[in-house]
Amino acid sequence: MPLLQTVVEEIATEMRSRLDRGEVASYIPELARANPAAFGLEVIDADGEVALGGDAETAFSIQSVSKVFTFTLALGMVGERLWKRVGREPSGSPFNSIVQLERERGIPRNPFINAGAIAVTDVILSGHQPREALGEILRFLRFLADDPDIHIDKAVAASEQRTGFRNIALANYMKSYGVLDNPVEHTLGVYFHHCAIAMSCRQLAMAGRFLAHGGRNPSTGLSVVPPGRARRINAVMLTCGHYDGSGEFAYRVGLPGKSGVGGGILAIAPGRASIAAWSPGLDASGNSHLGRIALEALTKRMGWSIFGP
Ligand code: GLN
Repeated sequence: MPLLQTVVEEIATEMRSRLDRGEVASYIPELARANPAAFGLEVIDADGEVALGGDAETAFSIQSVSKVFTFTLALGMVGERLWKRVGREPSGSPFNSIVQLERERGIPRNPFINAGAIAVTDVILSGHQPREALGEILRFLRFLADDPDIHIDKAVAASEQRTGFRNIALANYMKSYGVLDNPVEHTLGVYFHHCAIAMSCRQLAMAGRFLAHGGRNPSTGLSVVPPGRARRINAVMLTCGHYDGSGEFAYRVGLPGKSGVGGGILAIAPGRASIAAWSPGLDASGNSHLGRIALEALTKRMGWSIFGP
């Protein structure tokens, strides 16, 4: 058995038996139904070798991990002009904070906090119907993961739409500053639905491969983004991908990563591997508790931190 597969299996076994599992998100009622005992880990290396452990093939709500892909799409559509609508500095605030937005005149700090991701979604929506924009996002993910089965969990989308008062407030606030071009309900509709996309660790790790290999899928040779863009997406993931927990993630794991309140984390070991971890229990910053611990163990054992062994 190859070393990587052994390491991944050992970590999955360790995580399964841990009693500290964090708290499953309940502010989106449908997410509260997730099984706190679930844990999955999948690693795909440069040669396309797959190592998986635990529930790596179970689909879960990717939530904010989707923001990596909407950010990539929006950069492809408007390039550097995106930075007129959204910043690229870590926020140091919770993902759904509203105070910073007032001080900074409706321009969100970065594309990964909720306000920033809503602004990015608005860019993708411009010139399209909400249904078309959503179709574009879904097609992009299916293409990247090479899997036509990826779908939106309608119950999760409806649950968030019913209870998304904070996001509605953030979007209206940005609209008052002219940061959103489209009707707020349309932009939020697309945002809630792309957060509700369901994917497994397998599908997520596949979809992230271009970020680990200079913008290209090394198996097909197909270029998704130019190398410089992949590098910069990774930079924003490293500094902003875990909200006010981004410093801690860089310190402990040492990889660009993006978390979601469904408990998923996509992490990129540049030149080496695309990695997806999933465990629904969250820490105080809304990041997967065991997902982070598992990734810390993985990078330590493999010597994969971008900061050195
Ligand atoms: N859909 C969630 C929200 O807007 C995404 C948050 C997250 O995953 N951090 O609240």
